[in-house]
Amino acid sequence: MPVLDAAGDVKWILHSLEPTGSALSNGGRQYSAMALALDAAEARLRSILQTVPDAMIIIDEQGRIESLSSTAEHLFGYALDEVQGRNVSQLMPSPDREQHDSYLKRYLTTGERRIIGIGRIVVGQRKDGTTFPMHLTVGELRSAERHYFTGFIRDLTDQQLTETRLKELQSEVTHMSRFTALGEMASTLAHEINQPLTAIANYLRGCQRLLDRAEYESAPTLREAVRKAADQALRAGHIIRRLREFVARGESDRRVESLAKLLEDASTLALMGARENAVTVSFRLDPEADLVLADRIQIQQVLVNLIRNAIEVLTETANDRRLEISSVAQSDEMVEVSVSDTGAGLAPEVARYLFQPFVTTKRKGMGLGLSICRTIIEAHGGKIWVEDRGGGGTVFRFTLRTAGVGEADHAD
Ligand code: ADP
Repeated sequence: MPVLDAAGDVKWILHSLEPTGSALSNGGRQYSAMALALDAAEARLRSILQTVPDAMIIIDEQGRIESLSSTAEHLFGYALDEVQGRNVSQLMPSPDREQHDSYLKRYLTTGERRIIGIGRIVVGQRKDGTTFPMHLTVGELRSAERHYFTGFIRDLTDQQLTETRLKELQSEVTHMSRFTALGEMASTLAHEINQPLTAIANYLRGCQRLLDRAEYESAPTLREAVRKAADQALRAGHIIRRLREFVARGESDRRVESLAKLLEDASTLALMGARENAVTVSFRLDPEADLVLADRIQIQQVLVNLIRNAIEVLTETANDRRLEISSVAQSDEMVEVSVSDTGAGLAPEVARYLFQPFVTTKRKGMGLGLSICRTIIEAHGGKIWVEDRGGGGTVFRFTLRTAGVGEADHAD
């Protein structure tokens, strides 16, 4: 009886099925007691699935859907009897759709866990064909001869992070964005102002040399005035240098973080409302490169910037609105993260200067987002660059240092 296995409640349900002394006393009575117990267990499971607030899907080892919770029916747009017995891959888009059977087979033969007990961001597909980012945790159940998997799903576009957590995240990232934008501006200004200041100091030095040779009456007073002016120019230059150093040092709190979690939080923030704009988002994360050494808020800032830029360009310019976020382990202890869109591509007039401050094509844009991304990524020891996406659109890529297992042990 497959419905024995609701995750978490399996012991309780199995317990209710254990034959009692009276059930064993004769064949017929045993059968009816068993049937009653099974009915009761089934009813309990049904009521759990109807009331559990989470989206839950139970599948067997062939990947066939056994049960869905009501929330899952609602989330995917299917009634249980439309999908019961069908392959669960129907609830995911390509390429997972074609590959899900082999994921299952690989796990059943190798026991290698890539999602079970770990949890990952993947993409779900609703009955109407639209997709959404979701966080999936899979639990496993073995009972007697059978083997089941239970998926717990959180819809990330529907802001299933609690409101408080979401607000917290939002205010952290917004606060940091302003702070970094200010820093970036100060740094640019410092650079711009330093050049004329150096020129002033050089001219004054020249004047001083000329005045050293002059013999008219007021020359000493002029020399003194020019010396003081040069001192002040140097002092201003010094202040500016200190400001740049302060900004460059910044406040950074690097720890071992899960890239999947960073992406989950950042994309939830950035994708709020994206569903209304009919943007289809997919994630392809490399489980081999999940732990990174990063300042959580700064990297979220980078991701939010890149994803928001992509959504803006998709909403304004594209009919086919796809956004793909992926990560791939590199050979040199780095992981490459990419945010790719099917938008109109880069405007030629900004393409060359994209990562410099104040470069924008937007009427209300500051043109600071990408230069901030570069500052943050380079401070993390990574690189950021942009490429044309073959077939239209843009791909932003950046690298981050991965954290070894030893470092993870020391992380809190
Ligand atoms: P802002 O968003 O304020 O303009 P950014 O530094 O984030 O500042 O972006 C600079 C410019 O880069 C944008 O004005 C836009 O022209 C271009 N850009 C950024 N992301 C994309 C993208 N995904 N597709 C096309 N152009 C982009």
